[in-house]
Amino acid sequence: MKFIPLAKPNISEQDIDAVVKVLRSGMLVQGENVMQLEQNFCDLTSAKYASAISNGTASLHLALIHLGIGEGDEVIVPAFSYVATANVVELVGATPVFVDIDINTFNIDAWRIEAAITPKTKAIIPVHEFGLSADMDAIMSVAEKYQLFVVEDAACALGATFRDKAVGTFGDFGSFSLHPRKAVSSGEGGVLTTNNIDNDRAIKILRNHGVEMINNEMQFVDFGFNYRMTDFQAALVKNQVKRVPEILKYKQHLAEIYLDKIKSELIKLPVVPEECNHTWQTFHVLLADSINRNELIEKMKAKGVGTNYGAQCIPQTTVYQKKYEYDCRKLFPNALRAYTQGLALPLYDLLSENDIMFIAETLDESI
Ligand SMILES: *Cc1c(COP(=O)(O)O)cnc(C)c1O
Repeated sequence: MKFIPLAKPNISEQDIDAVVKVLRSGMLVQGENVMQLEQNFCDLTSAKYASAISNGTASLHLALIHLGIGEGDEVIVPAFSYVATANVVELVGATPVFVDIDINTFNIDAWRIEAAITPKTKAIIPVHEFGLSADMDAIMSVAEKYQLFVVEDAACALGATFRDKAVGTFGDFGSFSLHPRKAVSSGEGGVLTTNNIDNDRAIKILRNHGVEMINNEMQFVDFGFNYRMTDFQAALVKNQVKRVPEILKYKQHLAEIYLDKIKSELIKLPVVPEECNHTWQTFHVLLADSINRNELIEKMKAKGVGTNYGAQCIPQTTVYQKKYEYDCRKLFPNALRAYTQGLALPLYDLLSENDIMFIAETLDESI
């Protein structure tokens, strides 16, 4: 029986050749391919600057370190995301303050942000969940009003726009991931974008042991990390980034087949606000409360289709429960519902129209 996995990266012969070329050169660490990748990111997003980082979590971490966020500070994050979004706040010694999501978009409910702001609030990390931009009008205006930093977690959202402007270019930083579950992949990898030259310079120093070249001489000017990307990883992904517009066009076509073919009234289909495109990093549906999501995952698997939950209700995870004991049912009902009743379906450019129709039918039959 054919099995359709939830995700599969599309690596071309050109990508493989580019990696092999780096391996044969012996120049394995950050080099010309990293610079080309950064340029391709700037070309795609119109961000002024981009830094390749070892992964998307490290790139969020570096942004918070550079912005000076630490002990005694609070950072607003959505209650529904991948755990990394909140973990980086904990890891710099600050406190994540969770805000519930809008159940239609699965993004932070921007109108609830203001109520979560205190004198300790330093930043907002909006997540463009599943490849759909958060409401950047509302988020940037509340950030401006209270003088907060904005670090966009665009890990899932390469190519996503809000009012035709690329995500990752609204806030102080935009953080992208190149993990195989995302649109394009270097294995592990991340990119941090910014329009501010001082931010960019600081990140390039921090990712590389605090080294700055001054008069052609290496000087150690900061307490840095080693958060560099290897050059063969950059070679693997640099041309994939150029293919993003084409990939997104095809995925939009496949998504429309899902939207047309999934008929069950027990399934709520994703909603795309008119200010946004959707990059469909994840095609995420919401199941009626009467459906046991985990049993459905098993049924779909038995019929040859890989599915999974979409993201975590972060404050409900063991480590956050242990530390904060939130009553998530009361505080974050939408995030909890998206976690327990959400289902991610396969949607990537290696799938055919027939695959999508098969998955839609299998889903309707399995409900
Ligand atoms: C994948 C993801 C991350 C982490 O990226 P890595 O490259 O895996 O470290 C962070 N935030 C969100 C929303 C993600 O989806």
